[in-house]
Amino acid sequence: MRGTILYGARDVRFEERDDPRIINPTDAIIKMTAACVCGSDLWPYRGVQEITEPTPMGHEYCGVVEEVGDDVKSIKPGQFVIGSFFASDNTCPHCQAGYQTSCQHKEFITEAQAEFLRVPLADGTLVATPEAPSEDLIPSLLTTSDVLGTGWFAAVAADVKPGKTAVVVGDGAVGLLGVLSVKQMGAERIIAMSRHESRQKLAREFGATDIVTERGEEGVARIKDMTHGIGADAVLECVGTQESMMQAIGCTRPGGSVGYVGMPHGVELDGQALFFTHVRLHGGPAPVRNFLPKLIELVLSGKITPGKVFDLTLPLDQVAEGYRAMDERRAIKTLLRP
Ligand SMILES: [Zn+2]
Repeated sequence: MRGTILYGARDVRFEERDDPRIINPTDAIIKMTAACVCGSDLWPYRGVQEITEPTPMGHEYCGVVEEVGDDVKSIKPGQFVIGSFFASDNTCPHCQAGYQTSCQHKEFITEAQAEFLRVPLADGTLVATPEAPSEDLIPSLLTTSDVLGTGWFAAVAADVKPGKTAVVVGDGAVGLLGVLSVKQMGAERIIAMSRHESRQKLAREFGATDIVTERGEEGVARIKDMTHGIGADAVLECVGTQESMMQAIGCTRPGGSVGYVGMPHGVELDGQALFFTHVRLHGGPAPVRNFLPKLIELVLSGKITPGKVFDLTLPLDQVAEGYRAMDERRAIKTLLRP
């Protein structure tokens, strides 16, 4: 088969690799229907996160089961399945508590931008759709694998409630789907912080009621103005920089919550300053598996169309252009089709 390998900063190649095979009896092999490039893939792509050896890439996936190991009970060949970026058993105490990305047996999926993929702990990790989905639903179903699940978790972690005011920091695909999630959870006022016209438009389509273009302290001041000096009840931090985190905390009212899902890079918080904000912080790698059944159902029933975040579709063998387009912000998110 062929798959995606990152060799170093801005050096992505699509090349011949060994076909994945069943290693453990709990594995499944899936034939990729669609994969995509994640905003978090850009950290190593840009050299912010060092690459010491050629590294297979990709952790968002959906496809058709080709083969399963002897101990796989519920997942069957021929099923269309979606899984999270962490394999999980879905039975240990952390999984039972809804934190499958902290599973005691978790394994990171990192070879999904490829024609085939081995998925460990298949019964715990994968969710099958009732039947093969129609072609037009594939992009939206793919988002449930990570980007939508992550935006959804940001909203859950920020404790979004009906009638409340929510702010979304970050207008990447996760932030935009954070807006969609907040809308689904019934927030009344939804403020998207974005400077890019095409992204503002999509944010409005997903339910944003207001757009704020200012950033940093100016952004915080603007949110305070808009909320009578109070701050927002729920803030979703979907970037992972020092500025975005401080912006998120600054926008939150005392007693409010920040849900942070942007992978932090160089973020440092001052304990005493945080102490006096009275702000709750919760975040981490989204336990997407927890939300998959619900999100798949929302997509299949036509209630949401998160696949709109894909504004570039390429054949998988042009994956390098997919990275470039996102790096240069010509694309919000690249869909890859084998
Ligand atoms: Zn577990």
